[in-house]
Amino acid sequence: MKIFEVLAVSSSEIATDQPELDDIFYNKCQAAHLESQGYKVDPKMIIEDDCDMEDVRAASSVYSKWTNMWDPEENKYIIPYYYAEGYADLSYPYRGVTQTGVMSMAGINKNVAHFETLTCLKMKLITEAEKDEYESVIRVHWDDPDKRCSSGIGRCTGICEISMRPDCHKWHSETTVNHEFMHRLGFRHEHTRPDRDEWVSIHPNLVDESNYRKLPLSDWEDLDSPYDFRSILHYTVKTEDDGLPTIGIASDPSIGAPVHRQWPMSDQDAFQLNAFHACEINDKCADAGEDRCGGSRHKCLNQPIGYTCECADDYDLVINAEEIQTCVRDGSEETQYTIRMEKINEHLTRLIDSLEKTRYTNKYTRKMQKKIEHLDAATNEEKFRCDGSDRPDGEGEDIAVFDGETNCKLASQINSALVSASRKWACRKGSANRLVRHFNKYNRQFQARMCSDE
Ligand SMILES: [Zn+2]
Repeated sequence: MKIFEVLAVSSSEIATDQPELDDIFYNKCQAAHLESQGYKVDPKMIIEDDCDMEDVRAASSVYSKWTNMWDPEENKYIIPYYYAEGYADLSYPYRGVTQTGVMSMAGINKNVAHFETLTCLKMKLITEAEKDEYESVIRVHWDDPDKRCSSGIGRCTGICEISMRPDCHKWHSETTVNHEFMHRLGFRHEHTRPDRDEWVSIHPNLVDESNYRKLPLSDWEDLDSPYDFRSILHYTVKTEDDGLPTIGIASDPSIGAPVHRQWPMSDQDAFQLNAFHACEINDKCADAGEDRCGGSRHKCLNQPIGYTCECADDYDLVINAEEIQTCVRDGSEETQYTIRMEKINEHLTRLIDSLEKTRYTNKYTRKMQKKIEHLDAATNEEKFRCDGSDRPDGEGEDIAVFDGETNCKLASQINSALVSASRKWACRKGSANRLVRHFNKYNRQFQARMCSDE
């Protein structure tokens, strides 16, 4: 019922994007901590929580991170969220168009999906029934009309609330959803960072308001990220009653700051999320194991910006033109090609050792060695089959046999194995055919010269 009462009085005043005043709510400990530093915290943004008031300092300035649930299968920290019962049935207009709960859920799901593509965090949609399986879980709702689009800060124990009125997903070029989720991840507003005075000036009416007041250094985790007007955590610029902007540039408070939020989040937002969660330190690819990443081709897709994959033992990092990182077995590891060529060389050596040393057999030896070098040079760098179909740890592919009882039969078997290898691994245009022609020719000559009496 409350919802409809508010709908009736609020629908006319939301023709445009609203300022996000009071979009962080605090538990009692966090609020007490802020107030002790001179912040004004709107009482309606203080929630009942099980925080221990005797431990205000510890509870308030250090927010828990969502690093409690690492999923090696996903290669991510998992952050579960669910929609409150009845959320789908809500509605609220945005610029005259009704936004239903179902539309809101689609918008929220779409936006939070970007965390997993840009960072080592994954927002995982669960059902309400599953919530008890998790130590901490985000509950998306709109229970309290005053909370509009807002969130508590950091990870709590149990249910962590995010308020999402059904129109929130449309706000500020659709950056508001991830803005609120970033608060839940422990992030404050960009324009409150301790060095903000070098970049912006805050309107005098707002300077003590909790969402504008500059954070003390003690409450700021410096992630070595430059001031970012494109951050989705930067408030947009509004005009106060005196005509001055809410956020001006540092050198002239009458000129609005050049805030331009970048959807779905700015590069620096993603960088900070990754730095904050030490994404680059976690050896995600190696932890995941080679099987997860596809045998030899141990791909590190969807890794955070700036992340360098640490490959498992016996893998080398290869970065292609699209900057996709791949862990490739290093030279010490065998691929199907190297397995086959080792076998061929072993039997070729056996053949040559058993041949009488003549001008012809010396020439045959040299020509075969030279041609095998050509085959090597024609393969791709990682010694994968040209069609990419093989895996070094695959089985049963090498069907070459070397059981010939005579030198002549063995030479033919070696030839067959080399012809087949040329067709599979010589990727340069024309080189496979040329290799096949030469190997066949050397074998014909060998048969003619050495096997005339068989
Ligand atoms: Zn905010």
